Amino acid sequence: MKSSPVPRSRDIERQAGYLQPEHCAPPPPRLRPPGEMWFVRDGCGVACGLITWLLVLYAEFVVVFVMLLPARSVAYSLVNGALFNTLAFLALASHFRAMCTDPGAVPKGNATKEFIESLQLKPGQVVYKCPKCCSIKPERAHHCSVCKRCIRKMDHHCPWVNNCVGENNQKYFVLFTMYIALISFHALFMAALHFVFCFEEDWSKCSTFSPPSTVILLILLCFEGLLFLIFTAVMFGTQVHSICTDETGIEQLKKEEKTWVKKSRWMNMKMVFGHPFSIAWLSPFTTPDHGKADAYQYVV
Ligand SMILES: [Zn+2]
Ligand SMILES: [Zn+2]
Repeated sequence: MKSSPVPRSRDIERQAGYLQPEHCAPPPPRLRPPGEMWFVRDGCGVACGLITWLLVLYAEFVVVFVMLLPARSVAYSLVNGALFNTLAFLALASHFRAMCTDPGAVPKGNATKEFIESLQLKPGQVVYKCPKCCSIKPERAHHCSVCKRCIRKMDHHCPWVNNCVGENNQKYFVLFTMYIALISFHALFMAALHFVFCFEEDWSKCSTFSPPSTVILLILLCFEGLLFLIFTAVMFGTQVHSICTDETGIEQLKKEEKTWVKKSRWMNMKMVFGHPFSIAWLSPFTTPDHGKADAYQYVV
């Protein structure tokens, strides 16, 4: 039972009638059939997502064709090529999963009279209704004006992945920032070695491209790498911190009072990345089992 002060922007009442369910007609909206991919139709987000892919592909091109193929040592090229391409593939796969996974959208327009009555609210029990998408808002959900939906545990809307970062896709977003930071660092490291190699050798031998083109391509890669390394490393740190403290970006901004159950840092990590701890934490292809981590919480 909650008696904390309620934000004015939220419609709150105890009985179905006060929530004005008639304003939500005609319900119900079209539900997404199971298996249909989640995709936010936002022009700016699609452009930013496309730019992200093009920048990673540009880095791939410079690393492979400007630096690794002309390198003297085959072993150096093979090891670094395999490492860079694997990390870049994981970064793009994480990006795809972050973009095309439902971040935790609350069913739209479910604030109908029938639904509110079916909740069988007890006197004093509080429910929130989102006036924008006519949904019954669970605790810690926020409305996103880009996705036009209420999102569970919404952290922020990221145009670079053209999606909200919420309860269901935070793992992929964190992995995306981590892999981008890693490939940026790796590319900068290889570029530094390549500059040394080119200064020692004749510039015409250190690349299949002309010396001015090589220098321009490498400088652009260094600029891109440095920018992305700083940006994604800071984002990764912020995300891990907010997961450990179990406080989303929005909750930190609004300085919302913590009304939910406090858990250990390790348990909070498991809630996002899955239980138990395994190599699957690093894979964008495995879906974390939030329910399992939840059940485990009560077993212990
Ligand atoms: Zn909403
Ligand atoms: Zn959003």
